[in-house]
Amino acid sequence: MVAVVEKLYLAKPRGFCAGVVMAIQAVERIAEQLRSSEQSEVAVFHPIVHNDTVVKRLERGHGVRFVETIDEVATLRGQARGDRLSDTVVFSAHGVSPSVREQADAAGLTTLDATCPLVTKVHSEAKKYAARGYHILLIGDSTQHQEVIGTYGEAPDHTTIVAVIDNPNHDPGLVDANDVTVPDPDKVVVLTQTTLSVDDTMRTIHVIKKRFPKLVVPSRDDLCYATKNRQDAVREIGSKVDLFLVVTSNYSSNGMRLLELATKLTGNARRIENVGDIEPGWLEGVRSIGVTSAASTPDDLVQEISRFFQKINPRIEIIEDGEWENITFRQPKPMPPGAPLRVE
Ligand code: SF4
Repeated sequence: MVAVVEKLYLAKPRGFCAGVVMAIQAVERIAEQLRSSEQSEVAVFHPIVHNDTVVKRLERGHGVRFVETIDEVATLRGQARGDRLSDTVVFSAHGVSPSVREQADAAGLTTLDATCPLVTKVHSEAKKYAARGYHILLIGDSTQHQEVIGTYGEAPDHTTIVAVIDNPNHDPGLVDANDVTVPDPDKVVVLTQTTLSVDDTMRTIHVIKKRFPKLVVPSRDDLCYATKNRQDAVREIGSKVDLFLVVTSNYSSNGMRLLELATKLTGNARRIENVGDIEPGWLEGVRSIGVTSAASTPDDLVQEISRFFQKINPRIEIIEDGEWENITFRQPKPMPPGAPLRVE
């Protein structure tokens, strides 16, 4: 029997982080600037953030063309249907490896770098420690994640990508922390993808530290504030709800970590893209529901879910404790081809 949901807990914070806001605004601004020109479309290297709704809105409303290689930009520009594509390419919030920057430069493209500054910080650490002769153990959730590819690309000869400990589904390209070997055990540093599970990352670092006692862990760990805060907000709600809904695309690393955490806490969590994915069967016997969303999920999708449950039960209690974050990042500036790389 479908119970009437009496309480809806909305995790706070949830949804867009400062890096995502900056990146989406960067694309919208350049699209707006180009709107009246003959070449009114802009290429974005990789989905600007990992959310299907955001990607579709930018494609449909702002003339954005998402590409996975720099060559694609040149190819599209050479085709009849690509003659509206400008010579600007935007780099996504997840960052790119230096080789992609070089390719864009060689192709004569202006670049707009919307890499989150917290990802850039990890790139800087990779460069710094590689220059000092350290071997980098980069903890990541996939060798195919754009952020991992970008950070790895800063020092590929000095980096091994390590799996989060005890993850049975880990990408076979990742090395187990228990087995990883390094050229010099006295010169090892650990860096991480910014969006991993806090608990699992700390356990992984612990295992690595036991194997390499002189391991350097940069003073401020690399997991970003948005990742930590969204996981904390899920922990606050976990014990109070019968069902957790996590609004995220399945390729959002931080979103999928929220889903794992919510599943661990409640034993009953579901991933949805939007309200349309909610199945009536999920609501059987459910009286309280928690909702959270990835750092790349627009909040109107959560508001729609809230309205959906309010329509079913106008007396539903909406509980939204916690604090919003108050962090903003500066907008990037377009860089013409040949311009010196940003100094970090
Ligand atoms: S999740 Fe963290 S690292 Fe990623 S864009 Fe947001 S603030 Fe930056």
